[in-house]
Amino acid sequence: MVRAIVGANWGDEGKGKITDMLAKESDIIVRFQGGSNAGHTIINNYGKFALHLLPSGVFYHHTTSIIGNGVALNIPFLIRELNDVTSQGVPAPKILVSDRAQIMMPYHILFDTYEEARLAGKSFGSTKSGIAPFYSDKFAKIGFQVSELFGDEKMLMDKVLNVCTLKNVMLEHLYHQPLLDPGEVFSTLMEYKEMVAPYVCDVSKYLYDAIKEGKNILLEGQLGSLKDPDHGIYPMVTSSSTLAAYGAIGAGIAPYEIKNITTVVKAYSSAVGAGAFVSEIFGEEADELRRRGGDGGEFGATTGRPRRMGWFDAVASRYGCRIQGATEAALTVLDVLGYLDELPVCVGYEIDGKVTKDFPTTAYLEKAKPVYKKLPGWKCDIRGIKKYEELPENCQKYIETIEEELGVPVTMVSNGPGRDDIIMRK
Ligand code: GDP
Repeated sequence: MVRAIVGANWGDEGKGKITDMLAKESDIIVRFQGGSNAGHTIINNYGKFALHLLPSGVFYHHTTSIIGNGVALNIPFLIRELNDVTSQGVPAPKILVSDRAQIMMPYHILFDTYEEARLAGKSFGSTKSGIAPFYSDKFAKIGFQVSELFGDEKMLMDKVLNVCTLKNVMLEHLYHQPLLDPGEVFSTLMEYKEMVAPYVCDVSKYLYDAIKEGKNILLEGQLGSLKDPDHGIYPMVTSSSTLAAYGAIGAGIAPYEIKNITTVVKAYSSAVGAGAFVSEIFGEEADELRRRGGDGGEFGATTGRPRRMGWFDAVASRYGCRIQGATEAALTVLDVLGYLDELPVCVGYEIDGKVTKDFPTTAYLEKAKPVYKKLPGWKCDIRGIKKYEELPENCQKYIETIEEELGVPVTMVSNGPGRDDIIMRK
């Protein structure tokens, strides 16, 4: 059975924790998109980890962790992350890298940095991990696929020369930066070949066989619905699809094999980077939620940047679930909200004097004002509770209001960052 774990919001919903938890009963965990630009924070019996590229299944001995073809594969980063995990006492995980994954090159990261500097104040708030230049090259067909490292060297060098010619025009005339040396690019590729060789696999075939054998497979998404390039808040989005549907492509499996789409929904809102954020809060109110949020404050796992904070946005989250095709929702970080007397829930957007419950395109989103419904707080700590019925009544009411708004069953409630901080509802 294939299950996707994806985000309904702007990312940082706690997908890593849910994946780490569900990986216990899984055989294979696959990353299918994105790169090292976002982080999953995972707390388990080995300690606290910020994973960026490795799938969140690396902490179990029985699992195979896969980097699918849809991922932006930063090879030295992957090896470093692998070493970091094992040096903290985690047994060496079984890792496979798709032979069709494309390679993040050092110049992608440079171009990302140069472009952010060029845009200055009007930048997208990129993490400067090279993601946008990487995916641009992939679709312009000037990226390097892992398989090419193992092919004809002369052909590879010809491609390197072509890529350098193109890139150097931009470097010289737009960014005024040092040019790429084809010989250096080629030797970088050869170094990468050596590093990645032990892990390379025909992943799509591997997964095809695994599905036939009835293995349990998790597809782990990065970021959330609202960062999807097609269905998110374009252009303030990421450069690969964050949707479960893309899991089929980014892992190389049949779309109808994805039977369960567990969509992770955060009990309040947080976002990084630029873009409209309707239920955003500011000042002391935001600082307090940021301070109390997550497992030690809402700060980016990759950049350390303070996240933008907001109340639960039912309009965005319902849309986020719909566009994912959610079959169930996991509501996370609910424990954080125990300090509030009252919980505002954004149940509508007022746009040009009209209230809507449908999530609009970006131009309208910029004009939207939140319409709030207020729910009473529960004013206590809910960590440690294992049964739904034991949650305070007002807390149950908050969950049920969200469930009604989402139109998707909330089957899991996460009430702490740890693996066991979970309330199963079915
Ligand atoms: P991801 O990218 O979706 O995996 O999310 P992140 O790891 O960036 O952010 C989620 C943060 O919240 C992490 O620091 C988690 O340890 C933490 N977290 C996850 N679930 C819960 C929860 O139910 N309660 C609390 N307090 N923290 C949680």
